[in-house]
Amino acid sequence: MNIAASSDLPAARSGLVARLHAGLMPDYNRKATAYWWTVVVLGAVTIAFAASAVTTRLSASQCLQVMIGVVVAMLAGMFPVRIPRSKNSFAAGEIFIFSLLLLHGPAAATLASAGEALVGSCRTSKRWTSRIASPTMAAISMFCSGSLLESALGALHSRGWDNAAVLMGATTAFALAYFVLNTLLVTLVPKLKRNERLALSELFGNFGWVGIAYSGSASVAALVYLTFQQSGVGVLIAAAPIIALLLSTMHLFFRHQEADEAMRKSRLDAMEREQEQAQRHMEELQNIAFRDSLTGLPNRRHFHELLGQAIARGQDDARHQFGILFLDFDRFKLINDSLGHSVGDEFLVQISQRIQHHVRPGDVVARLGGDEFAILVEGTGCVDYAVALAERLLGMLRQPLQVAGTEINASASIGITSSAIAYADPGEVLRDADIAMYRAKSAGKARYAMFDVGLRTEISQRLLLEGELRAALAAGELGVEYQPLFSLATGTLTGFEALARWEHPQLGTISPATFIPIAEESGLIIALTDLVLHRACRQLRRCQEMGDEGKGLTMHINISGNDIAHKGFISRVTRALAESGLKPQDLTLELTENILMARLEDALPMLAELHTLGVRLSVDDFGTGCSSLSHLSSLPFDSLKIDRSFVQDLTRGSNAAIVRAIVFLAHALGKSVVAEGIETRGQFEQLCAIGCELGQGYHMAPSLTSQRVEAMMLGWAASRQVGYGSPVTRAGQLCH
Ligand code: C2E
Ligand code: MG
Ligand code: MG
Repeated sequence: MNIAASSDLPAARSGLVARLHAGLMPDYNRKATAYWWTVVVLGAVTIAFAASAVTTRLSASQCLQVMIGVVVAMLAGMFPVRIPRSKNSFAAGEIFIFSLLLLHGPAAATLASAGEALVGSCRTSKRWTSRIASPTMAAISMFCSGSLLESALGALHSRGWDNAAVLMGATTAFALAYFVLNTLLVTLVPKLKRNERLALSELFGNFGWVGIAYSGSASVAALVYLTFQQSGVGVLIAAAPIIALLLSTMHLFFRHQEADEAMRKSRLDAMEREQEQAQRHMEELQNIAFRDSLTGLPNRRHFHELLGQAIARGQDDARHQFGILFLDFDRFKLINDSLGHSVGDEFLVQISQRIQHHVRPGDVVARLGGDEFAILVEGTGCVDYAVALAERLLGMLRQPLQVAGTEINASASIGITSSAIAYADPGEVLRDADIAMYRAKSAGKARYAMFDVGLRTEISQRLLLEGELRAALAAGELGVEYQPLFSLATGTLTGFEALARWEHPQLGTISPATFIPIAEESGLIIALTDLVLHRACRQLRRCQEMGDEGKGLTMHINISGNDIAHKGFISRVTRALAESGLKPQDLTLELTENILMARLEDALPMLAELHTLGVRLSVDDFGTGCSSLSHLSSLPFDSLKIDRSFVQDLTRGSNAAIVRAIVFLAHALGKSVVAEGIETRGQFEQLCAIGCELGQGYHMAPSLTSQRVEAMMLGWAASRQVGYGSPVTRAGQLCH
């Protein structure tokens, strides 16, 4: 509802009038209401006057002609000729009304035009306000303009201008006056309702056709009148089919025009629809080509394009700066593997929204694929801004995320580079930001790193090594060596620790300290663990089959954080046991204290299951992490392996005290203790005195190839047969 109009409504209206007003004229304001009533009252008076004038001034036969004329006009009003491209129509009855005007004066025409308007308004409008007002307006217009014509013809007649041409001209002028007056009265209602001004152009634009049709009807009426005067009433009967023919021709012409118009419009509509559809397809294609379907962010391709534009801006104007942040999540694979891909997807969507929340409006956030995101920032001081943004994003990522009812603690490593390095190609920018991200990861993850040119060689070597490690693994070129473990009290061999070895054809021996982290980051560690697991299990089985010395031996295998996060790890272990014929008790899995602490929650159920199966578990490099012994007491571990840094510094009083405390507490908790890195007889004896059960180290034996292990075992078997001393003496000899 229009507030202005409603506030304008007459304030004090009550009872029936108010109800009538609300029901019939809810959209009429004060001015429109006053106008409507004025017109209706005036029109009613005009109709009443016209009726009395007809009955008093005309003879009975003339009254009959008027009645017939009124009925014909009303009947014609039921079948109007619709004007194309307009909501208006005119009725054929106008010819009869105008003829009545010329024959019997304005009163007769007033009744006929009111009758025709009543039929017309009932046909076109459901509102009683229109149905009442239309006939009264037609009556007023006809009475005024008809009276004007009557006086004009009288005046012309008195001056002797009394020919057919004058009649035709005057009638046509009357028709136009009638049209203008009637149109004005009708149009004023909506204008007053909407408090709008009346524009003449609008008036003639909308009703022009009706005006022309009226003039035509008026000319026909004048002809009818002239013929009637000369030939009497018979001519009217003869004229009827001609008029009917004329009107149906007009009707057909207009319908034809309307049909043409409709066809043209439908063709235009169809063309418009086709264009819209093509536009939509274009947009969809662009979306597919340039947007990431999961997050809706620009994809790698689009980002490349935007980055190219930023580079070009920098080339045009040396003051223009840009920076790039390259973001990679540290544990996304783990989320995907352990919680499923739909959770992984939801995680990415939430993360993308969070990132967008932290950037400025002009910054571009894109998903490059997988868990990689990139942000392009431009403008003066953008390098400082990029660093501040990286810090903010790292802080944001420290807040846990709720995904599908699970709380996820995510962290990302971010690499930053900027236009300070004169880039010419978007690929180079992304490559360097990726290298910086790599640096952040290898520096401990959950941090950012800035790119510098020296990083390129370092990283490219690392990437080269990763490729070669992959190939070496696939070709089975990686080796395994076995370092013997001994009981410190008796000197007997108790088992081996399997250690991966890589002999590179050009670079020579590559330390596990170099290639194990590469394998972990690239996901190759799963294959590497499997290789070591299967070979070591088979090796131990062969040792066990070589004689009594081999019977009770165990095999220690190092596993990584990625292994314990791997869903199929238990079946991988049981498969290796089954394939080699070992018992679960023959296998000890070593897990470093740091990995254990970082993955404790994820790993615990799997470790418990392995322990229930009978597989032994050992905490490797104990003392380097931040776990407490009491904490470890609740975990399913059988032994602790004291880190070699404690063993090597055993001569220092404080270290000896620490080792003593570890051994004491471990025993109190029912765990055994293994010492690694024993290099001297002194260390050996000291550890033995402290009560450490097992040990390994160069003092007893380094890691041995499979052949040397088997030669050693055969040697012991032979020495036992010929009555040599204890195996530990032989083992001790091996390291020299
Ligand atoms: P770790 O599990 O603590 O293995 C013991 C390391 O100490 C081995 O180094 C071994 O050669 C070395 N070592 C043994 N006795 C002595 C000694 O008397 N003095 C000194 N200084 N060192 C001694 P390695 O073979 O270089 O392995 C380094 C680390 O690489 C291992 O530490 C382990 O964490 C990892 N690693 C080796 N092989 C594998 C593997 O197959 N899988 C996994 N996940 N990690 C492995
Ligand atoms: Mg180990
Ligand atoms: Mg160790």
